[in-house]
Amino acid sequence: MTAQAIACINKSALNHNLQRAGRIAPGSRVMAVIKANAYGHGMQTAVEAFDAADAFAVGNIDEAQELYELVRDRKPIVVLQGVEDAESLALCRRHQHEIVVHGEHQVRLLESATGRGGVRVWLKFDTGMHRLGLAPNRLRPVMQRLAAAGCVDTIRIMSHLACADEPDRPENREQLDRFSELVGGFDGARSLCNSAGLVSFPDAHYEWVRPGIMLYGISPLSHQAAESLELKPAMTLKSRLIAINECRQGDRIGYGATWTCPERMQVGVVGLGYGDGYPRHAPSGTPVLIRGQQVPVIGRVSMDLVTVDLRGLPAAAIGDEVILWGDGLPIETIAGSAGTIGYELVCRLTSRVRYEVSG
Ligand SMILES: *Cc1c(COP(=O)(O)O)cnc(C)c1O
Repeated sequence: MTAQAIACINKSALNHNLQRAGRIAPGSRVMAVIKANAYGHGMQTAVEAFDAADAFAVGNIDEAQELYELVRDRKPIVVLQGVEDAESLALCRRHQHEIVVHGEHQVRLLESATGRGGVRVWLKFDTGMHRLGLAPNRLRPVMQRLAAAGCVDTIRIMSHLACADEPDRPENREQLDRFSELVGGFDGARSLCNSAGLVSFPDAHYEWVRPGIMLYGISPLSHQAAESLELKPAMTLKSRLIAINECRQGDRIGYGATWTCPERMQVGVVGLGYGDGYPRHAPSGTPVLIRGQQVPVIGRVSMDLVTVDLRGLPAAAIGDEVILWGDGLPIETIAGSAGTIGYELVCRLTSRVRYEVSG
């Protein structure tokens, strides 16, 4: 028995979610987004579970390098931030990575490259998010410059949605329309949808979809549960009860003495905390699962420990498994309680957490 924090990763759930994405977008190819260590699930595990994906996408060149060690030439690797210098460009060219080109400086970098061919480009346009991307009116001149540059083999076009997690927002239709106008006369491959777009906008799937969060069984929509989208949570974060204290009425629990026992009661101590990636901002009342039953966190989350109210669970014993999210306890619930999103919770598990892969 160990009291350590453990992230159990269910490979068959990952695999199921990829298939689910494929079924929702049957006419498109799937670029599985596995940046940030596959959203905290482990890159190697994701590579194995997502073997059926048509390509992988990562955030930056370091992640691309790590991924390349695992997949070599078996699958295209897309670098979502693209490259900033000649050395990285040369590396991507050698490994046949597909690089996103989102700014003028990257266009100039390609123009300054010597030699013919070998560079695969996703030209990214800003259709309304105003984060990364070239202005839509730059399409023609940039295409001409890249054609003249000589090092570029293929050009594809992409953009990114700002509000797809709230499908009814009018900004979505504006972006969809702007993208459709942008690619009207373009006969190469196109891509617009992240997970939320993929499930909400079937008319915008184009040749490639780019799901991330849904592959991990987390709902991409702010008002819809993962279960209703037939997604299966792939990560269960657990630890154990390492102490049970008999507290009296008026006893105050933990740092800052923020929670006061209203009566004689048992307080459980769980062997994990924000040092493992459990959110410190999870307030009293945030549920954890012990013996299949939800009990609330009380007091402040500390670095190594979380305290819970065991009044509803008299049978609890030291050594009991405690589920912080995952099986039977949606991560969306914990994220909502802690004022964040599932994306952040899975991404910020720390190196202290041990991973166990099943399925
Ligand atoms: C991270 C990312 C995605 C995946 O987004 P999800 O919301 O996790 O599905 C898709 N496209 C781009 C450009 C991204 O950066």
